[in-house]
Parts: sequence; C-alpha cells; structure tokens
Amino acid sequence: MVKIKDSKYYIQSLFLSILILEISMINEYFTAKKKLYVQSVKGRFRSLKTKLNYIFLTIYSFAPFVRYERGEGISNQAILIDITNSKAFFFFIEIWPQEAYYLAGILIIAAVMLFFITSLFGRIWCGYACFQTVWTDIFVTIEKLFQGDRNSRILLDRKNNFQKYFRKTLTHICWILVSLLTGFLFTCYFNDSLQLINQIFNGNISLKVMGWIFGIAGMTYIMAGFAREHVCTYMCPYARFQSAMFDNNTLIISYDKNRGEPRGKWKQGESFENRGHCIDCKQCLVVCPTGIDIRNGLQMECIACGLCIDACDNIMSKVGLPKGLIKYDTLSNLLEPSQKKEFKILKPRTFYYIAILLIVTSIMLSSLILKAKIEVSINPDRNPLYVKLSDGSIRNGYEIKITNKTYLRQSFRLSVKNHNQLISSSTNLDLNNLEVDAQSEAFFKIFLTVSKNYLNENNAKEMIVEFEIIDNDKSQSYSANSKFIFD
Ligand code: SF4
Ligand code: SF4
Repeated sequence: MVKIKDSKYYIQSLFLSILILEISMINEYFTAKKKLYVQSVKGRFRSLKTKLNYIFLTIYSFAPFVRYERGEGISNQAILIDITNSKAFFFFIEIWPQEAYYLAGILIIAAVMLFFITSLFGRIWCGYACFQTVWTDIFVTIEKLFQGDRNSRILLDRKNNFQKYFRKTLTHICWILVSLLTGFLFTCYFNDSLQLINQIFNGNISLKVMGWIFGIAGMTYIMAGFAREHVCTYMCPYARFQSAMFDNNTLIISYDKNRGEPRGKWKQGESFENRGHCIDCKQCLVVCPTGIDIRNGLQMECIACGLCIDACDNIMSKVGLPKGLIKYDTLSNLLEPSQKKEFKILKPRTFYYIAILLIVTSIMLSSLILKAKIEVSINPDRNPLYVKLSDGSIRNGYEIKITNKTYLRQSFRLSVKNHNQLISSSTNLDLNNLEVDAQSEAFFKIFLTVSKNYLNENNAKEMIVEFEIIDNDKSQSYSANSKFIFD
C-alpha cells in the first residue's frame, strides 16, 4: 500500500521531472531559432516608445501604493484584487464574488477598446504598450549596457573568455533583479502593498505569496530574457486575428516599393537615377525587435513599433533623400499610390466602436454607482420542509443572508410584515439587533411557527411571508418574500 509520505514523494518527483522536461524543451526550442541581435536606433518613434515606457512603468509601479480611505479594518489600497476575501477594489468601485458579471463587462470594454485602436492605428498596442514589448525593451537595454550594441554582442558571443562570462553574469543578475521587482510589484496588486513590504523586511512573508513573487519573476525572466519575439509571433493570439480588424484606412507600417525598388548597394556620390531609393543597408532589418524584413510587405510578426521607420529615415538623411521610404500609411494608399488619400480618423467603424463603448461603459458605470449597499435574501429550509409541533402548530425554518457592502458595521431588526399571527422565533437571536460587520455577509437562522387555529381558519396549502429588515441607524427597510409551507 502507498503511504501518504510516499505519495507526496512521487508527486514531487513527477513535478520535478515535468519541470526538467519543460526547461529542456524550452531551451531546445529557443536555441533552434536564430538568435536576434537587435540594434538600438535613434529617432522620433524610438523616443516616443521610450517616453511611453516611462509613463506605463511609472503607472504600473506606483498604482498599488495609491491609497483610498474606506474605513476601519478595510484595506485602503485604491487598486486591489483581494483573492483571500474574493473582492476587487478600484477606488470607489468594488466587485464582490457574486458580481463576476462586472468582470465580463470590463473584459468587453477592454476588448472593444483594443479592436477600436487596432482598426484605426493597427497593432500599436503591441509596439508601444504591451507588457511583453515593454519588458523586452528593458531587458535589451540592460543587455546593451553590459554587452554593448548589436555588433559587440555578436562578437562577444563568438568569444569564450572571462570577459564574456563576466558581462553575461552581470546582465543576468540585473535581469533577475528586474524580474524579482516585477514579481513583487505584480503581487502588490493582489496583497496590501505596504503590509507586503513590512512582511518582506520582517521575514514573515507567507510561502504562498513568496511563490507568487518568484513565479511571476521566473515568467518575466523567461519571457523578456529568452522568449521575446517568439511570444508575439507564436504565443499571442492577437497577432493571429489582428488583420480581421484592419480596413483599407487602417495605419500600417509600409515600405514604399514604388520608390524603393529596384534596390541596390550605393556608394557616396553615386546618382539615384534609374534605380530605387533603397540602398539595401538592412538597417530596417537589424533594428526590428521581431527580426522581419518589412520590405517583404506587411507580416503577421510586425508589432508596428516604428523602429524600422527611424532606421530608414536616418539612412535617408545620410544619403540626402527625403524621409518616409518606410512609414505609417494606409492600405488604400499602398494599393493605389496615385490617389493619395489622407488618413481618416472619423469613419463608420469609429462610430460603431464609440457607440458600443459608450453603451457598455454607461451601463457598467451606472450599475456600479447605483448598486445596493445592503442586500437581503431568504432561503427556506428544504429538508424538512416543515415540522409539525406537538400542539398541532407548524414550524418552517429559514436562513436569512444580509450582505453589508458599506464600510460601517450595521445593525438590523427583523419582522414579518404581512402575517401578525405568525410567531417569530430563533435560537438565541435578538431579532431587533442583527449585527453585520462592514464589508461582510452574515447568515441568521430563524424559525416561524403558525398556530393550529390560524391554519384551520386559512384553508390553504401554503402562504407567502414577507420579511422586513430595517436598518436600525438609517431606518431604511429591505424586504424579501418566501413561502410558508404546512402541507
Ligand atoms: S517591421 Fe518595423 S514596425 Fe514592424 S516590428 Fe519590425 S521594426 Fe517594428
Ligand atoms: S533601412 Fe531603408 S534603405 Fe536601408 S534597407 Fe531598409 S528600406 Fe532600404
């Protein structure tokens, strides 16, 4: 017979074997692909990307430290997904477990926003704001800091000396530190950030939270350090269906074939007559974070980051030709270059998307703002449905659930509104003072007993009982109906 101790050992061994297998598969998969040595570039899109990176990273890093006062004993973290208590907080908005439909609403809004932006500007979310792009950018910057730009990195990889391993070690140490910081910041969205810092410094952090930090750090290290462009190309579903959102007026990265071809090498002082403007320097290729050649046309791998535009514009300036051989342009201009049309933001699709966004957002916001702060529900006992007492009277049992979504402890009194003849009773409960803590649910077991005489006078099989629950402080009343069964 397998003992519990042995089975634990087998499970651990199984997980370890799967982990080793996965690591070897990941390693084999990525080493089978040609390694990209992305070159840095200067230009307007690079500087826009850097500025946006700073903005997004600042928001991401500081958001879990913003406070919003809710009341005593309740976390004052403005943005918090409290998994332990199954609640999500966003400033004054709260989502309780029974309100999971709000999450569906948020996802619909996010998806429509993404479709809307993609229909106008193509895949710019991927190029400028996606976590994968932003973190890969940070990791490449660190790589460049310790190992130099593209050519130095290629040379360094060919060597086998102390300098190589020293520089690589420093790079990996920094990557690990950034990954751990990412893991910590991400975990702060699921735990009180200030308490978490306290726990880390006092060394009393739970194993579960530590697992989250190290798990997210590990994912960051693999995704931004090794997987990089493979995530955009092979793992991200968005790359697959983005073209369904494009129309002829969507901005895409395009190489002007009419102007660029026939391409060819160029020497200082040579004329550009009877040839294209592309000097085949491959600068657009070496700066591309996904390693594609945009001169082959729009490809699924293109994340619309615009870095190839910067690289080509720099080359065009050096050879004395106008910029814009590679540029953001619409498909209709590419297909019919003779009929140059201005990029239009206002088009039928824009109005459809705005209309959907307005409708879904206003429904969500109004229901979130107007939702009840106190909720009452009554569940009659199912087994047994009723109990016949020795004097002939009938007793029904109920469970009353009061949900207090306010930030204050509340007290309620319970009564039966429509049947004075019913006798309310319960076990050790003061029905005039049912207390419910702030941000909590409370369950109260009560019994209603009806006399034999009342049942004889009212010849019915069942009757409806209307419970009234009155808030003792504000004198607001809430009612809920249930059946009283006696046959
Ligand atoms: S082709 Fe240009 S825009 Fe597309 S991913 Fe490469 S560098 Fe970015
Ligand atoms: S950077 Fe411009 S000139 Fe150089 S290969 Fe690319 S398209 Fe041609």
